[in-house]
Amino acid sequence: MSAAWTRRSLLLHAVATGASVLGCHVPRRASHTAPHPATSPDVGPTDARGPDAGVTSRYEVIVLGAGIAGLRAAECLRDAGLRACVIEARDRIGGRIESVRLGDARVDLGASHIENAPYSAVAARLRGIRANLLPSDSSLLLLNESRRSLSRARRAVWKQRFDDACARALRSLAEGHDCSAAEGMAAWFQSMSAHSAEARGAHWHQRMHVELTRSVLMDRLSLRALRSDHEPYAMAMQVQGGLATLTESMATGLEVLTQHVVRAIMCAHDGVRIESSHGILQAKALVCTVPIGVLRAGHIRFEPALEPSRMEAISRIEPGARAVQVASYAERSWRMREQFASAIEPRPDVPDVTPWLEDLSHWTGTPTLRAQWHSSWLTSVALAERSEEATRAMGQVLSISDRPRERPFRDWSVDPFALGARSALGVGGTLGDRERLAQPFENKVFFAGEATSMSAEGSLDAAYASGQRAADEVLAHVRRAG
Ligand SMILES: Cc1cc2nc3c(=O)[nH]c(=O)nc-3n(C[C@H](O)[C@H](O)[C@H](O)COP(=O)(O)OP(=O)(O)OC[C@H]3O[C@@H](n4cnc5c(N)ncnc54)[C@H](O)[C@@H]3O)c2cc1C
Repeated sequence: MSAAWTRRSLLLHAVATGASVLGCHVPRRASHTAPHPATSPDVGPTDARGPDAGVTSRYEVIVLGAGIAGLRAAECLRDAGLRACVIEARDRIGGRIESVRLGDARVDLGASHIENAPYSAVAARLRGIRANLLPSDSSLLLLNESRRSLSRARRAVWKQRFDDACARALRSLAEGHDCSAAEGMAAWFQSMSAHSAEARGAHWHQRMHVELTRSVLMDRLSLRALRSDHEPYAMAMQVQGGLATLTESMATGLEVLTQHVVRAIMCAHDGVRIESSHGILQAKALVCTVPIGVLRAGHIRFEPALEPSRMEAISRIEPGARAVQVASYAERSWRMREQFASAIEPRPDVPDVTPWLEDLSHWTGTPTLRAQWHSSWLTSVALAERSEEATRAMGQVLSISDRPRERPFRDWSVDPFALGARSALGVGGTLGDRERLAQPFENKVFFAGEATSMSAEGSLDAAYASGQRAADEVLAHVRRAG
């Protein structure tokens, strides 16, 4: 009996008993997880001489990846009456949405803020399941040397200067050309004396508003992209209990196979064969939602190979990098009153590169901080030291002498099934690259995921909408095929 078969049996058993399997959310609507009468259910290994050689399971559609894009695609396909199965490498659903338990509370270690919440489909879904949404203070608070916050007016001045300099740099670009944000802005940074308040403000703005929100180093980010209208983290809200509240609800009634690492996608005249760590799966169509970092690393082999133009587009979309640590303490010894903070003043005991800090104590009921570390920090700290250094530096910034009781840490830049945080356009990249990535491959593989969306850069809503778009494409394809 194959491992896939074993897991499937377990899954169906769990549906019947209401238990949980392998960390995936257990479908409650058993009717959607039972074999579809119109298609053949899982089959055992077949005749090695025939076209079905080695195929362990068959579905109408396979959705690769149980992140928000994949779950959205699968629920749309299910609602349209197709039998879709979600294949996921991890032992949990959610992808870059990961809510971890700290004592009695759950907090986000991946995505955490729903941007533009009043207009967000993700926020609307959460309201629909009566999740508790709380507004985030999207303007970052700065602490100066004496840990006093710097005024909003001062920060607004820095932002205005940064935006003006960016606009000037863009105007000076030759028509149709691009350069890195670092190159474009170099003259402006050089125009300031290194230790002036102006220079410190500008560098802070660069780190917090550019490298953290876009997750990409200034020397890899497109100058043109920096001027895009999308303002990450504007009008943001967070979910009490974590964003996994949403992905768990979305997975209800879906068939999800966790711990299935996909290694190859092979297109044939009659469908797609997917080589996974638990055997070969077959479907008429595939929705592929793996992150851009995974595509760029070539961890999944395509047969035939992806076209050169699509590979070029993939190379111009940067996967971004970010690490997150959540730390719970016995006592709330820090004086930070507002939700967000970052130190900028040069101090001998505080590293130059400081995190975006959030005090989550009012959410969790216990003293809790979250620190998000951006690309400059990741390049300056050795991989093996990042978790410990994150804890130490967070303590230094806020003068905390206790060790945290718990301190889960996730470095998304090296997570094998993310290899990045949220995508942004690299030098020379355009929205056309996202569009190229999103185009169907061999009329059988339909790409989704945040990197394929042209709406909002790398956001939850971008991923959600992409899943819906890919499901629509599959449905149109199925109708055309009769
Ligand atoms: C630290 C961090 C903070 C963020 N903050 C925000 C935020 O505040 N607001 C916001 O809007 N966005 C934020 N984002 C971006 C947001 O998380 C993503 O846009 C969104 O979650 C992407 O969803 P997705 O379904 O496209 O991809 P994913 O969630 O990555 O789903 C892809 C799935 O594919 C699976 N997979 C990969 N390789 C394989 C394989 N070989 N075989 C099988 N399965 C595989 C993965 O395990 C994963 O589950 C943040 C991201 C990070 C990392």
